[in-house]
Amino acid sequence: MTGRPAGAKVGRDIGRYVGRFAPSPSGPLHAGSLVAALASWLDARAHQGRWLLRFDDIDGPRSVPGIERLILQQLAAAGLEPDAPPLWQSQRGPHYAQALAVLRERRLAYPCGCTHRDIDDRLAALGIAAPRGAGRIYPGICRRGLTGKPARAWRLACGSEDAPVFIDWHDRRLGAQHQDVTHAVGDFVLQRADGPWAYQLAVVVDDAEQGVTDVVRGEDLADNTARQIHLQQLLGLATPRYLHTPLVRDERGEKLSKSNGAAPLDLREPLAALRAAAVALNLTVPDSNSVTDWLPNAVGAWRQRWLQGSEWPV
Ligand code: GLU
Repeated sequence: MTGRPAGAKVGRDIGRYVGRFAPSPSGPLHAGSLVAALASWLDARAHQGRWLLRFDDIDGPRSVPGIERLILQQLAAAGLEPDAPPLWQSQRGPHYAQALAVLRERRLAYPCGCTHRDIDDRLAALGIAAPRGAGRIYPGICRRGLTGKPARAWRLACGSEDAPVFIDWHDRRLGAQHQDVTHAVGDFVLQRADGPWAYQLAVVVDDAEQGVTDVVRGEDLADNTARQIHLQQLLGLATPRYLHTPLVRDERGEKLSKSNGAAPLDLREPLAALRAAAVALNLTVPDSNSVTDWLPNAVGAWRQRWLQGSEWPV
């Protein structure tokens, strides 16, 4: 299976470009998240397209109440205004349930009753030294039935030894990419044991609903793309184009993140933050004194850097 078979709907029938920024509201924007926001905004503006905002707030416990307002203020201070009211994932449960129902009907999704302990025990019995957490590859224990255990999560049956799911895809910055999803990831979760919908399912359903033609986001998410393309193909949804941006790292070389204490973006210094984001994007932007003057220069620089030879009208 490939990410872009001949004749596949890529970029949604070339209509109008739609881009998006999808922050998780677990904290204010910081220098790293501004890079993704700016890059997706620039790409949308350079294509004369629309730029949408989505709050990935399905992960209830990690979402900080009210942080969305601050994120909107931070974006507005940086001149990055969405073209429509934001979408909240927490309000979209029925749509995810519908997608899961489609996969269940086709026997591609199955209930799983395993705890982390069950999975680790089975992996140990198989002699597989497994990383803890999200890195473990599920050894398929419940594929043939729950054997009396109560269902906890829903998983996607993701290929088999004989017929692995192999996804080829193209990243506008990183070039040709491929992943054997069966062996690299295994039967991934669609709905978690504690209730929330998994990011992989939600992002695919929402990108389709919002008509997203181009996903521009941080490189740390590149590894999820093959899973998302696989789900798009199973659900008959268009595959957007992808561009993963460089990550901003701290002095220890770690990705800046809310969890490792990255400083929130200073609302009083938006231009300085935008300049730093442009540097992280390797973009040379003719300087100016205000956000309103700087942004069109940045759009011009982005257009030169990323739209040469583009299949899109410039
Ligand atoms: N919510 C994700 C994050 O903040 C981004 C999701 C996406 O762009 O696909 O890391």
